[in-house]
Amino acid sequence: MPVAYIALGSNLENPARQLQAAADAMAAETQIRIIAGSSVVRSAAVGPGPQPDYLNAVVAIDTSLPAETLLDRLQAIEHAQGRERAIHWGPRTLDLDLLLYGDQQICSPRLQVPHPAMAQRHFVLYPLAELCAADFVLPSGETLAALLSNCPADGLADSGITLDYHPQH
Ligand code: AMP
Repeated sequence: MPVAYIALGSNLENPARQLQAAADAMAAETQIRIIAGSSVVRSAAVGPGPQPDYLNAVVAIDTSLPAETLLDRLQAIEHAQGRERAIHWGPRTLDLDLLLYGDQQICSPRLQVPHPAMAQRHFVLYPLAELCAADFVLPSGETLAALLSNCPADGLADSGITLDYHPQH
């Protein structure tokens, strides 16, 4: 089964509760097994107007779901948690991104993997690095270490919040 990595983000309606609810919902899926989850990081929002800070985390999962079906499940979880899509890059109760799906490169109308923005996002790369070996190689051939060295952690803080990821061994 491929190991996939999912990024979780929220900056509305009690973000810590949103992230925990998303972890609970993923753990409840019979075809998803959570292997591990990262710490929760805090960063300032990027986007229009003043917005609350974001909380972000990454989980590693084993899944028997094909990538697009996994995306369906992630979008159903976002929808169940009341995600609004009215404003591009606007505040959101929950954002779930499929970062990596095994060593696959996917480019379909609704799914690009590796996630095209992950290399520019410190709030994705640093939590991801907690879950991967130092010499982790992406499908592009780049190492995670190389991506980290090009993406400073400036502005990224440990939130002090701990999630229960329900890891099943
Ligand atoms: P966003 O609002 O940034 O979460 O983008 C959601 C849209 O991105 C959806 O229409 C998805 O079909 C599309 N998408 C493309 N690649 C991915 C990915 N790797 N993970 C999540 N959504 C993706």
